[in-house]
Amino acid sequence: TTTSRRLATVETIREIAGIPGADAIVRARVRGWDVVVRKDEFRVGDACVYFEVDSMLDVEDPRFAFLAPRGVRTDVDGRRGHVLRTAKLRGQYSQGLAVLLSAFPELAGAEPGEDVTAALGVVKWDPPLPAELSGQVRGPRPGWIPATDEERIQNVAAVLECPARWVATEKLDGTSVTVYVDPESGVDGVCSRNYDLLPADGNTLWRLAREGDLHGLLRGSFPGRRAAVQGEAYGAGIQGNPLKLRDQRFSAFTLRVEGAEVPRGEWPEWALALSVPVREEFSFPATVDQALGDVDGMRSAVSPDRLAEGLVWRAGDRAEVELADGQVVRASFKAISNRFLLKHQDS
Ligand code: ATP
Ligand code: MN
Ligand code: MN
Repeated sequence: TTTSRRLATVETIREIAGIPGADAIVRARVRGWDVVVRKDEFRVGDACVYFEVDSMLDVEDPRFAFLAPRGVRTDVDGRRGHVLRTAKLRGQYSQGLAVLLSAFPELAGAEPGEDVTAALGVVKWDPPLPAELSGQVRGPRPGWIPATDEERIQNVAAVLECPARWVATEKLDGTSVTVYVDPESGVDGVCSRNYDLLPADGNTLWRLAREGDLHGLLRGSFPGRRAAVQGEAYGAGIQGNPLKLRDQRFSAFTLRVEGAEVPRGEWPEWALALSVPVREEFSFPATVDQALGDVDGMRSAVSPDRLAEGLVWRAGDRAEVELADGQVVRASFKAISNRFLLKHQDS
């Protein structure tokens, strides 16, 4: 699966702490993440390779073979492996996997922070498409439209210091859809995360685009220009339907003209009306722990008796922000509810 995510990186064990009531396991902190490891497996300062959740690891590799009994899956591209998920052991959340760097002689000389995803053949888990969604493919998603993606707050903590008009929207757990108009080629398109889908009556994503007249709305607001609205299709039959809806819906989170993101503050009325739920009751967090604590156990605005997946914080007045170290990053990140992950990750 096409990924630029840094799933496996060389890191240093920052902290080790006991877990109340447990004597064989301890909590290790790696970058912003907590991982439960065996007692005496690591010392503070040890170099390790850290694999993030969603990594699919090849259990034929002897270093990952111990994961095979915990489950092996087949992804959208037919690859098999063990997928790292969120776990809770003795009341302690554990995310990802840490392995001593010395277990990987092929990484000799690798520096802390180095991305070793490709070197170790780690791929991002992408679930197979539900049969109902899969249609005939026109080709890959057009190159002028970036894939939908959100960075985890654990990986971009410095963004919390950046002033901007931050807006929290609820993260809906469905499947990503991109609807676009291209006046040059004359194509009205609908894409899944990676593919441009041919129109088909039975295709859920096309049906949602047609019902909302999304192509017409894009043309009306941005005549003569290449424009796209990106959002989430969610509900019955999609990704386990954690919100337990009876129907299928589309909610928008990104608008693009000629590829560039249009900040929410400049969205036309129709796009605001289609927006993923804005959650004004949350205030912009000061720390990673606060960002995660705020969303843990939060309820969905769509189905108030269900847990929400989390929040996406995004600037409403700019597309990018500059971090204290001068690095420019996208002004958008996600904070996922650990309780939601624990409950729904295997659905
Ligand atoms: P996977 O489920 O395979 O882990 P994902 O598609 O959920 O991958 P994430 O990295 O978890 O990807 O989150 C980013 C995705 O969240 C976006 O690609 C988008 O499809 C989805 N999303 C849902 N709600 C929102 C929202 N309010 N704002 C932005 N993105 C959202
Ligand atoms: Mn995800
Ligand atoms: Mn998702």
